[in-house]
Amino acid sequence: MTREQLSDVLSEFARTVVTDVPIQGILDHLVKRIVEIMPVSAAGVTLIATGLDPPYVAASSASALRYEQLQADLGEGPCLAAYETGEAIAVPNLRSEDRFPNFSPRALDAGLAAVFTFPLHHDDRQQGALDLYRDTPGPLSAESMGTAQTLADVAAAYLLNAQARDDLQVASERPGAAALRDAVTGLPNRILMLERLEQAFLREHRSSTISAVLFVDLNRFGAITDTVRHRVGDELLVAVGKRLAGILRPGDTLARVSEDGFLILCEDLADPSQADAIAARIDAAMALPFAVPGVEVNFSASIGIAFTGRGDDAPEQLIREANLAMYQIKRQCAGGPSVFDLRALERTADQDGLEDALPGAVERGELALAFQPIVAGRDGRLTAVEALLRWSHPSRGSVSPTVLIALAEQAGLITEIGRWVLEQALSERRHWRSPRAEELSVSVNVSAHQFMSTGFTDTVAAILDTTSADPGCMTLEVTGSVFARDSERARIVLSDLKEIGVMIALDDFGSGYSSLSYLRQYPLDTIKIDQSFIADLGREATSRTIIEAVLDLAHGLGMTVVGKGVETRRQHHELTELGCDCCQGYYFAAPMSSSSLRTLIQSCTDIHPRLPLDPAATGG
Ligand code: C2E
Ligand code: MG
Repeated sequence: MTREQLSDVLSEFARTVVTDVPIQGILDHLVKRIVEIMPVSAAGVTLIATGLDPPYVAASSASALRYEQLQADLGEGPCLAAYETGEAIAVPNLRSEDRFPNFSPRALDAGLAAVFTFPLHHDDRQQGALDLYRDTPGPLSAESMGTAQTLADVAAAYLLNAQARDDLQVASERPGAAALRDAVTGLPNRILMLERLEQAFLREHRSSTISAVLFVDLNRFGAITDTVRHRVGDELLVAVGKRLAGILRPGDTLARVSEDGFLILCEDLADPSQADAIAARIDAAMALPFAVPGVEVNFSASIGIAFTGRGDDAPEQLIREANLAMYQIKRQCAGGPSVFDLRALERTADQDGLEDALPGAVERGELALAFQPIVAGRDGRLTAVEALLRWSHPSRGSVSPTVLIALAEQAGLITEIGRWVLEQALSERRHWRSPRAEELSVSVNVSAHQFMSTGFTDTVAAILDTTSADPGCMTLEVTGSVFARDSERARIVLSDLKEIGVMIALDDFGSGYSSLSYLRQYPLDTIKIDQSFIADLGREATSRTIIEAVLDLAHGLGMTVVGKGVETRRQHHELTELGCDCCQGYYFAAPMSSSSLRTLIQSCTDIHPRLPLDPAATGG
């Protein structure tokens, strides 16, 4: 198989994005082309994803169809195993394979000798699996295995598009205006967008301006919404739509065209750099957390842009180009953010005033730290304290730290404010008086920007030095977005920090960007489980299972686990029963002022099943 052949197949798939190739057509094409370019005798694919009943099946030959059917009937086989585990499965010799006791003998009887299966998943959402069959035993080369997985990935992405297109088709068959609107967000759908594009082309012939189409695809949207409660996905899509609409110019058209894809049409641009600026604004706006009742999530977007003005503009062609550009970006930084620089942030009128007020806030004494105890799960003994930033704006009162951090990043003040937090937290630690004060560690949150900024490690080392603090008693809390942004750089900064001797905690584990693989890949000391899982304990069996899995893996790797947002006795009890090392939350103590903390530490005896609350400092 040559690179050209692979590239041909990829382009063929790309064409299915805007044409009406149905799901079955995409699958048929996939299996047909695979047997042409790969050293296999047959190929089959089954889409199992929930909601598809009966599942879609395609096969390149009658025998491949029989093998697919056999697995479906038996509920066993490599296809189901790949779907369930998300891992590719290689069975070079079915005769010596004992994982599929029901499937193997029957398949051997039917003439199968080897099978290689690749999961179809997009953004961590499992859809089914692709099976490559051979009638002679023997392995597939590493290159062939890689190619097959690439084809499975690309097919999965396009299948999602086809599914969304089917959904839109159903919606468009409803009479009236609703047919032109996306049912979840109320935004224009693909059909209305195509109409607007037609009109834009007509107008453009009469002017010297150009138009741009931006394809905005939410990275890992499916995986993120899978971790949160039912319906949150829809609420988040509405929030994304509103945020995008808020930063567009009057006259721009925003449409939702697939499950997690939005299209934006910007007309009347004097030159392409104006579209780049819009893309940068979108990218920055997406970097701010999204909050819907009970949940706050972070995700980034991949943005592809295509321009008119090349003579043969056709609406569908332009959308396809934008989609391909987006897909290229997604592939370049798989699982990571888009290629756009995060310099500009969304500028809503509301935030403008605040942004202007931020410079000098430290000097004017408007910033302060609140401190929240972290206690040992078993006996409630105080083990650490997390420093949380507070901003008392003279006229607006307290501003959420999430907003404050985003603004500080936008205004280029994050390094300065972050340094101030580190200094304050370590200075405060020197005032703790108790026989065990030396053992208490202080945790400081570090934003991804701050973590990646030049000289961050040196700053940490210098502050430890000037405050004569033991590095082992300081924990830096980072979120998974640090690793998603630039994993190589993150690794370097982490190892520099480990060299100094500070502890690293992975915060908000399970929300936004987080992956169990981070636990294996990076030298982490502590995992802080996101409070959404703790809130669901006792209500959602999956939360308990996920917490158990995180505890297992983290403990196996010698890490400590903290459960966040513990608000009830029952949550504390369940977490402790599961073996969670430490807890943090209102059940034990809310964030408090430094003086309340000092009093608390001074009065601490060894065992504190429950610490006193200081509601005045809950802040935020
Ligand atoms: P975080 O690191 O996850 O901090 C814990 C947040 O949960 C705090 O919100 C805390 O007040 C809140 N919390 C504690 N216990 C409970 C509970 O039982 N139930 C509920 N519902 N919430 C609880 P806060 O103080 O509003 O901080 C929000 C976020 O702002 C922090 O989340 C952190 O990501 C960020 N942040 C705060 N200070 C800093 C800072 O100095 N630097 C950076 N980069 N980020 C900061
Ligand atoms: Mg934290």
